[in-house]
Amino acid sequence: MSISHNVTSQTRPPLIDTFGRTHDYLRISVTERCNLRCVYCMPAEGIDLVPRAAILSFEEIIRLVNLFASMGINKIRLTGGEPLIRKALPTLISKIRKIPQIKTIAMTTNGVLLSKNIDALKSAGLDKINLSLDTLREERFEKIARRQNFSDVMAGLHKSLEKGFTPLKINMVPLLGVNDDEILDFVALAKDKPIDIRFIEFMPFDQNQWREEKLFTYKQMQEIISKKYHLIASDRSPNDVATTYNIDGFIGSVSFISSMTNSFCSGCNRIRLLADGAIKNCLFSNNEISLRDAMRQGATDDDLEMLIRTSIKKKKEAHDPMATLHKLPNRSMIKIGG
Ligand code: SAM
Ligand code: SF4
Repeated sequence: MSISHNVTSQTRPPLIDTFGRTHDYLRISVTERCNLRCVYCMPAEGIDLVPRAAILSFEEIIRLVNLFASMGINKIRLTGGEPLIRKALPTLISKIRKIPQIKTIAMTTNGVLLSKNIDALKSAGLDKINLSLDTLREERFEKIARRQNFSDVMAGLHKSLEKGFTPLKINMVPLLGVNDDEILDFVALAKDKPIDIRFIEFMPFDQNQWREEKLFTYKQMQEIISKKYHLIASDRSPNDVATTYNIDGFIGSVSFISSMTNSFCSGCNRIRLLADGAIKNCLFSNNEISLRDAMRQGATDDDLEMLIRTSIKKKKEAHDPMATLHKLPNRSMIKIGG
């Protein structure tokens, strides 16, 4: 199969949807596989994975990133599954780094393989890390992640700070009755370290047994924190998914991602490329178009551009409200990439 590259230096019109939102941020899932089994993300027995050949190759990813870059994408986030499971991830990062329009390369990781890879990631040109961590207690980690890698994740956290990946963003999903008693322990992490603790509301996806009773809202989190600290709101840019607060005397900060109770669709600037090459215009949209199939059938970059614009055009103004969201068909989070 031949892959034609005809765009890299050509500038195409920006990706603007019908609601005037410009898209400059592409999240790429590089694998559906994961070395953890977080209870809120996937079932204990795992999920059906597509065969390896169905996953985009590095060459295909780079071709698409070049194309997206020519349409104004300047930030890439690598995610998954667990991105560090993808063999030779630093090689992919170094190839993306060579694309001049890409200003920021970030990665969201569970941290299990982070300390082993941190030097290679840094040399490859990775700019930012979001580390997912839902508990600071080893025995509880095993219950939530269903694996015993707590010390590996903590080593990854410390190495990231040591190597200058700061501010380090830590993603924590508080679940009612599971880890909601650790909110203040997490906040305390930001006191002496350049860490932004990001509390994320539990979201519904296929097979994750979402129930409203398990949802711990950002308001409930803020109530707990406000009893001990004065939260000072920091400036927010229109594309931010998080609302961030500072606390007097703290080096780090605390953020809330309130996708369920106070969504932030009006400033959305992101689009997703899934591991199997589907383009998805919203985390909660089930409208997908396979760029992989088109590429493998010989599509030119102009053909791919048309498919990408079709996806952008179909983007809704906002995702459905919480009450209906969990009833809609969607992939599991691990297959979408958070
Ligand atoms: N494996 C990597 C990790 O855990 O960081 C990247 C993929 S993971 C799907 C990306 C982020 O999505 C993680 O921070 C995780 O906590 C979050 N996430 C997964 N399922 C979620 C859910 N149901 N609600 C809210 N956040 C979720
Ligand atoms: Fe794996 Fe990340 Fe999902 Fe946990 S949240 S199961 S680490 S993909």
